[in-house]
Amino acid sequence: MSKRDYYEVLGVERSASADEIKKAYRKKAIQYHPDKNPDDQEAEEKFKEANEAYEILSDEQKKATYDRFGHEGVNQNAGGGAGGFGGFGGFEDIFDMFGGFGGFGTSSGRTAPRKGKDLRINLKLTFEEAAFGCEKKIKINRNEPCETCGGSGAAPGSERKTCSVCGGNGQVKTVQRTPFGSFQSVRTCDACQGEGTTVDTPCSTCRGTGYERKAKTLTINVPAGVDNDTVLPLRGEGEPGERGGESGDVYIFVTVAEHEFFKRDGKNIYIDVPITYVQAALGDEIMVPALKGKVKLKIPEGTQPNQKFRIKGKGIASLRGFGKGDLFVTVHLEVPKGLNSVQKKALKDFATLAGDEVHTESKKFWSRIK
Ligand SMILES: [Zn+2]
Ligand SMILES: [Zn+2]
Repeated sequence: MSKRDYYEVLGVERSASADEIKKAYRKKAIQYHPDKNPDDQEAEEKFKEANEAYEILSDEQKKATYDRFGHEGVNQNAGGGAGGFGGFGGFEDIFDMFGGFGGFGTSSGRTAPRKGKDLRINLKLTFEEAAFGCEKKIKINRNEPCETCGGSGAAPGSERKTCSVCGGNGQVKTVQRTPFGSFQSVRTCDACQGEGTTVDTPCSTCRGTGYERKAKTLTINVPAGVDNDTVLPLRGEGEPGERGGESGDVYIFVTVAEHEFFKRDGKNIYIDVPITYVQAALGDEIMVPALKGKVKLKIPEGTQPNQKFRIKGKGIASLRGFGKGDLFVTVHLEVPKGLNSVQKKALKDFATLAGDEVHTESKKFWSRIK
């Protein structure tokens, strides 16, 4: 592999000042620091590369040699060899440079128990199921302990044993050398993936993972009053935790289908009902559809088009248990069509009888136009 030019590595011009070089190095070092990029090989390489470039370009003598002879000239000093560090910056610089993202070498607790992943399930309900509540069966796919090995990951007859690479810690310490000194960072052990134990003969059913993907059917009680924004949690039904951690949760995202007649807004429901012109004028008692069966509604004499009536307590139960919503009925006036001659005569007689005295809105409007 050919070595990249040190100026290119830091992203500076050949004419860059010592200060510019230092700034460019800081940027790269922060960007690629192993603490910020755990288990990222590429970042680690770039971090080393930037360190090496800075080690040369920050040293006046080495820089001069590099400028004249390239990598050949400084090769024996490059690559993070011992003895090349120190002499500039000092501790304050280091603190300043890396202070922004936590300390070094601190355990990030990767081997601590970890809660399992949460699962998300979409659940479609009918209008009535949401209004009254229901029992539903949902299918989820999640990891279950492997039946062959009982979750150990080891083939029958063999056992898990302490990882020889990390000694059971699940973490390995690496020492990173930079021109500012050596830093220790902790990373997850590759040999055991942080488990602290390994198997010689992995279980063939689960390939050593200890888990099998399985379909599970869960029965859930959907409470009355759920709506489109409802999320129902099922605690502990998600993916199993790692290293003794608790299981994740299942979150059920509810969507509710529209109803043929009813509209819904929270606890309240709305319906449009047609009534006749005569019912509106004389008043009547009608039966309107409710969520369950029908309810009586009194239409008062002189009811106007689109008048709204409220029937208390005939809406949807509150999800939080605070009473019930209401049913709102909007009446639409139907103007008679296709009248026969007798009917027409009756209406004409009515008009003559009534004059415009009974039609106050019309009277007001036309008098203002004139
Ligand atoms: Zn197994
Ligand atoms: Zn290990």
